[in-house]
Amino acid sequence: MPPTSTALSALAAKTTSASSTVLHWFRTDLRIHDNTALLLASKAAQSLTRGESRTNLACLFVVSPVEWRGHGCAPVKVDFWVRNVEALRDTLAERGIPLVVKMNDDKKGWKAVSEVVKEVCKELSVEELFYNVEYEVNEQRRDKMVTEAVAKLGVKVTPCHDQCVVEPGKVVTKEGKVYTVYTPFKNSWHRYVSENKAVLAVRDPPSSNNHKFSSTASSYIDSHSTIPSAPSLPAYSATPLFSQPSLTHLTFLRTLYPAGETAAQTRLSAFTASRIDAYHESRDLPTAPGTSSLSPYLALGVLSARQCVSAASAANGGRRDTGKQGAVVWIQELIWREFYRHVLAGFPHVCKNRAFKPQYEGVQWTESWSRDVVLPAFPVPSTTSTPPPPLPPAPPGTPNPLFTAWTQGRTGYPLVDAAMRYLLHTGWMHNRLRMIVSSFLVKDLLVDWRLGEAWFCANLIDHDLASNNGGWQWAAGTGTDAQPYFRIFNPSNQAEKFDKDGKFVRMWVKELEWVKDGVLLRGPWEAAAKGSVVVTKKKMEECGYPKPLVDHAQARLAAIAAFKLAVQGA
Ligand code: FAD
Repeated sequence: MPPTSTALSALAAKTTSASSTVLHWFRTDLRIHDNTALLLASKAAQSLTRGESRTNLACLFVVSPVEWRGHGCAPVKVDFWVRNVEALRDTLAERGIPLVVKMNDDKKGWKAVSEVVKEVCKELSVEELFYNVEYEVNEQRRDKMVTEAVAKLGVKVTPCHDQCVVEPGKVVTKEGKVYTVYTPFKNSWHRYVSENKAVLAVRDPPSSNNHKFSSTASSYIDSHSTIPSAPSLPAYSATPLFSQPSLTHLTFLRTLYPAGETAAQTRLSAFTASRIDAYHESRDLPTAPGTSSLSPYLALGVLSARQCVSAASAANGGRRDTGKQGAVVWIQELIWREFYRHVLAGFPHVCKNRAFKPQYEGVQWTESWSRDVVLPAFPVPSTTSTPPPPLPPAPPGTPNPLFTAWTQGRTGYPLVDAAMRYLLHTGWMHNRLRMIVSSFLVKDLLVDWRLGEAWFCANLIDHDLASNNGGWQWAAGTGTDAQPYFRIFNPSNQAEKFDKDGKFVRMWVKELEWVKDGVLLRGPWEAAAKGSVVVTKKKMEECGYPKPLVDHAQARLAAIAAFKLAVQGA
């Protein structure tokens, strides 16, 4: 049985000798394997040990609800975060490394994180602090404040690059600029990795802590080892931003995404052992288990990008860009993740709710994003309710009914609705569906992409600012890609290609379960209007499935006109 934190601190309390500490600060890198900063911290602790002056290795996690709430983070993600910290504490304890868990005072705001880290450094006599860099603007500001605060105590700070296989800034155009188009970035990425094979070397876990904490440090560790449950945190409950799952629902969500490195690595191994071979063919089908569903683990760093690329490459005889198509395409998706991180690091304005291409700031939306927006929060629908109950009135300040209907899966476009209900129920969405629903919100409903981005953030277990922002700006045509704004997904054609027999729609839109023909499910109201004998108007009215909010063909023309006007006026 792994030792608990109490057992660990009891062990520490018996001791009296060690004098100083090397500290690793965990954030979105919740793993002990292949963790650059943690390994360096462990090595520093060993090399600093000299004669009677002993150096311990300790770790820190700051529970900072104010930061999570600032992002509008989903309750399901907060819960996953907390569960992974618990798993990490137990894994560290097996190596005799304590995890100090400190709360950041919600009322003091995110800046107070620097006071928290400084206090820990003082209490544990920290000589060196290590962490892995986070590239978002607020995180960078926070880390600068922390570095300045602990420098006053004489603590040496070492930030490490670990989130990507290739560090942002290392792959640039001939002119030395950050790539803004994916394909040349991908080619350059492959060249760089081939020339610098060490970037793929998976790092060792830290050595065990062989030293003994002083009794003062031990009692400090002992009194700061409790990890609060997610539902007890202000980030979870004190905000109107999200639809909160009930505790029963949360239990169900926990079974979908078990916490911890072992669970993540098991999932990676299962995927690379077989499913990866068919990835290029099955990854677009929402009913097939075609993708890895590793995104929640990658978003919190329970698994590293290096571990994923290395495992895929091993499954492909050591190759990355040639060989088996499944592995090659999967690695390309991991490179999309890196691409968006490089873009975010190079163009930080994307973190600040601004279009990558400023000429699209002037689009006249049917509903614009604002900083004070209240996202609609309704009870999470059950898959078994037929039909779902009518929505209660939306709270004041909620965006227009088009947006609300989209969030609740009531647009009248079955595949869009199935995808949105699936998100509410599982906290995750398949990539093909993310592309379809984002295009629908922005181009068919002409709702500001920032509202969609916020809704995804408020509901996704795998929310990741760089990938979410990149995905939304890609769909809106305001982003880095060369994609022109007039390429607009037709939701019925997408259903024809990716949910041919309507299986996915029947699974999630219970009002339409009786429609067995996939063709009719692509536009049931349209079929009824054309006189279908199966899907009649009467049956459609009885089943309660909503009429389409907009006519796709007309909405498409309106979107093209609105985007064109914005470009001309810029
Ligand atoms: P797999 O297909 O198995 O891919 C493996 C990994 O590669 C993923 O886990 C992910 O880390 C990365 N990846 C795959 N596709 C992409 C992509 N298009 N862009 C960036 N990285 C990718 N991904 C997130 O991790 N968090 C988000 O908040 C997020 N928001 C998105 C919003 C929109 C509008 C769109 C279009 C895409 C978004 N994505 C996001 C990217 C992608 O949809 C998810 O990464 C993917 O669905 C996760 O499923 P998987 O783990 O089974 O992926």
